[in-house]
Amino acid sequence: MAGTQENVVIIGSGPAAWTAAVYAARANLDPVVYEGEPFGTMVPGGQLMSTTEVENYPGFPDGISGPELMERMRQQAVRFGVRVVSERITAIDAQRHPFRLTPSYSDPVASLTVIVATGANARWLGVPNEERLAQTGGGVSACAVCDGALPFFRNKRVAVVGGGDTAMEESLYLTKFASEVVIFHRRDAFRASRVMADRVLAHSKIRVEWNTEVVEILGYDEITGVRLEDTVSSERREMDVGGLFVAIGHTPNTAFLEGQLELTPHGYIRTKPWRTATDIEGLFAAGDVMDDYYRQAITAAGTGCMAALEAERWLAHHGLGESPILPTAEAPVPGPEAAR
Ligand code: FAD
Ligand code: NAP
Repeated sequence: MAGTQENVVIIGSGPAAWTAAVYAARANLDPVVYEGEPFGTMVPGGQLMSTTEVENYPGFPDGISGPELMERMRQQAVRFGVRVVSERITAIDAQRHPFRLTPSYSDPVASLTVIVATGANARWLGVPNEERLAQTGGGVSACAVCDGALPFFRNKRVAVVGGGDTAMEESLYLTKFASEVVIFHRRDAFRASRVMADRVLAHSKIRVEWNTEVVEILGYDEITGVRLEDTVSSERREMDVGGLFVAIGHTPNTAFLEGQLELTPHGYIRTKPWRTATDIEGLFAAGDVMDDYYRQAITAAGTGCMAALEAERWLAHHGLGESPILPTAEAPVPGPEAAR
């Protein structure tokens, strides 16, 4: 049985989790963060641990490395007394209140509110040299909006892998910087919405290589090209490219929630419009785990702030804190009858 009862447990360790932790700690809620542990492709600190330069996070005019940004966010939370446990949460029982959470090693913990900020993982191709070149700034990326404007990619032929809306969006974005954008798609038709596909097919800077798979990325320190395979004839060939953007989808880290709360058809946590509240009272979600649209560090941090404020107000509303309740005309704070 859970020994202690927490006010707020925050699950995750990306920008959403640390921002929620700072806000909750400064509201005297004494939060605890379960930051995770190395597991699969995940490491504590989140997705930015696998990138080099972050140039679009405000406050760092010269840019900052992803790992340093995450270490600073963590330190800021710890400075305000946030307790950090280096374990994953493997299960939540959200059908009873207080919620009961099961960490990977230590005893179960009970909490009045929970903020899920477990993020998402970009899917990778799993081909030779991909991981190394992605982690060292060698010209392989899973985020054109994040990296496409870097000098590295300018005025070069860059490639995009995928045939969904993300691949369309990334290709169009890259036309601002690249001399040419080549899309490799494994079939002969896009999965993307018609309007996005039409825009791509009509663009003078974009060329599509149908029925084409990337089987190897070439280059040691920097990408120099790709080895391709025709998915119909199995013929192989090489093409010179100065950058590769993998846009084959993301997987939100929600497997451990197993039917405990409402998810979208793609597995993201469904929140109320412009809120971080979920369909379970007292359970909030922030960052890429609830956002399949923006997927940026700053938006993750923004929703982390929102989740902490909503948790604080939820607790206050149920007589567990001092924060004023600020209903809005659009979305009034639920009344006590909503509590279970
Ligand atoms: P994440 O960063 O996804 O972190 C969540 C973490 O929580 C996981 O990594 C894991 O350690 C932990 N966790 C997961 N499950 C559990 C569990 N069950 N229990 C405990 N802990 C758990 N955005 C930008 O704004 N600018 C950029 O330049 C930029 N560059 C990027 C480069 C790359 C290569 C990638 C992949 C993404 C980039 N992004 C960038 C996007 C940005 O990284 C994400 O939008 C952001 O990190 C999302 O933050 P998050 O807090 O939702 O969670
Ligand atoms: P997606 O729709 O799942 O598309 C993934 C694409 O990658 C598919 O074309 C798939 O090929 C390909 N793919 C998957 N695994 C691959 C592999 N191992 N090797 C090569 N190719 C692979 O993912 P998404 O594009 O990220 O979109 C996710 C959701 O977000 C969708 O609902 C989308 O509409 C939405 N979205 C909307 C917008 C917008 O409206 N502006 C923008 C972005 C995303 P197959 O087609 O052969 O399966």
